[in-house]
Amino acid sequence: MLMPAPDTNTIAQKARLAAALAELLPPESVIADPIALKAYESDGLTAYRQSPLLVTLPRTTAEVSAVLRFCAENKVKVVPRGAGTSLSGGALPLADGVVLGLGKLNKILEIDLENRCAVVQPGVQNLAISNAVATAGFYYAPDPSSQIACTIGGNVAENSGGVHCLKYGLTTNNLLGLEVVLINGEVVRFGGKHLDAGGYDLMGVMTGSEGLLGVVTEVTVRLLKRPETARALVAGFPSSEQAGAAVAAVIGAGIIPAGMEMMDRPAIHAAEDFVHADYPLDAEALLIVELDGPAVECNHLLTSVTEIVRANGATSLRVSESEAERLKIWAGRKAAFPAVGRISPDYYCMDGTIPRRRLPEVLQRMAELSKKYELRVANVFHAGDGNLHPLVLYDANKPGELERAEHFGADILRLCVEVGGVLTGEHGVGVEKRDLMPEMFTELDLDQQIRLKCAFDPDQLLNPGKVFPNLHRCAELGRMHVRGGALPHPELPRF
Ligand SMILES: Cc1cc2nc3c(=O)[nH]c(=O)nc-3n(C[C@H](O)[C@H](O)[C@H](O)COP(=O)(O)OP(=O)(O)OC[C@H]3O[C@@H](n4cnc5c(N)ncnc54)[C@H](O)[C@@H]3O)c2cc1C
Repeated sequence: MLMPAPDTNTIAQKARLAAALAELLPPESVIADPIALKAYESDGLTAYRQSPLLVTLPRTTAEVSAVLRFCAENKVKVVPRGAGTSLSGGALPLADGVVLGLGKLNKILEIDLENRCAVVQPGVQNLAISNAVATAGFYYAPDPSSQIACTIGGNVAENSGGVHCLKYGLTTNNLLGLEVVLINGEVVRFGGKHLDAGGYDLMGVMTGSEGLLGVVTEVTVRLLKRPETARALVAGFPSSEQAGAAVAAVIGAGIIPAGMEMMDRPAIHAAEDFVHADYPLDAEALLIVELDGPAVECNHLLTSVTEIVRANGATSLRVSESEAERLKIWAGRKAAFPAVGRISPDYYCMDGTIPRRRLPEVLQRMAELSKKYELRVANVFHAGDGNLHPLVLYDANKPGELERAEHFGADILRLCVEVGGVLTGEHGVGVEKRDLMPEMFTELDLDQQIRLKCAFDPDQLLNPGKVFPNLHRCAELGRMHVRGGALPHPELPRF
């Protein structure tokens, strides 16, 4: 993985930088010891590792601001980090960069049920928000499978999704306000407790910006009332094509389930061996459909979905009769990644999105790629929204297998784009999909995106080497070419 060449001058100044940062933060909040730095050398994409120059662990917005201002003044690169569960290498450190860990900003500042929102610091874990409001009957809807560990700041930066995002939306649909610190140390606020804000949608710009535009230091999230009833249906199918057709038929019938997930045979077996969720082991594909709402609506929809999955060839069908049974059905799906980790020394989790109706064809072509690269693949998807998570199984200790897994993964993502989909559904671009960005965007598109980056971070100090395949100097992109005294597009207003 090619990263921006480390600045040897910055590396040589490590001791001075550490001492100066320790003046801005409590000394224990600055880590410089090479052994202690090892803990930060990768995120959830463990194939890539790099010890950072330094780690800082601020406790307040003011401390985040002081660290950023110092780094900007000294032209030091900064990599923001939440819990480090990113699967796209977004929090991968740089040899000449400071990791800015947000883990100490971990307080729930306010629960405001009258405005149906909570104000939290970025290091609060996703699940902690729902736990804090559970007794009042509320919850925070986006539920990444990593929700016991990942932070809300990381969720904002990745615009994370989860199994219930089909009906309730991704992180971006569940945010009301953000406090962000810019690279020069300036603290800005976007949105608030109200539903919409005037001016440009800068909260939208910040959401999913992967730590490249600013550091999120406070998040106001929407809270939802827990549905009166939730029931899950698990159906086994003789083929992925039939399960895929059932997904299309449910959506086509105008039903938006709370979640609709699919797993293929290898994933079913791995999950069943791990959590014993009573999945049908003779099935080639498994569909979990959750319906929620008032009991009467839920029962009506369950009847409709049951008819649809039967009509599409389901060979087994079970509906949860209790909350414990519903949670057990989900436990298998939520543990699918670690379960696959038990059957292969390493796996590479991909994340692409396709139009739902292309699913059978994409699965077929993935099976062909699996033969070509001689690597197994287990498939877990958010089927309702066409978000695929193929897990490419490999052994990093076998020479060449990581490279084969990377090529296999890249071909899967190219396939997603080819059939009209996109490179990422929820895990972000990071370093993992960075070099594939030109598969989806023209040079002009990418230049426009980098211009936006330059508006926030002109020296490109925040998380460089992520998302964009090439680094342009901002001045280069801002340059206007004037030929023979003639301005390009003279009709456009200039300012
Ligand atoms: C087992 C497993 C299951 C997963 N399941 C899902 C899933 O279902 N859905 C899903 O969407 N993702 C999933 N993920 C991926 C990951 O959990 C999410 O991307 C998550 O949002 C990352 O949060 P984090 O706190 O760990 O952030 P990190 O990994 O620390 O950072 C992720 C990115 O956000 C930036 N960042 C972090 N905090 C801030 C901040 N405060 N301000 C600015 N930038 C910041 C970092 O620079 C980096 O680019 C899964 C990961 C694992 C390991």
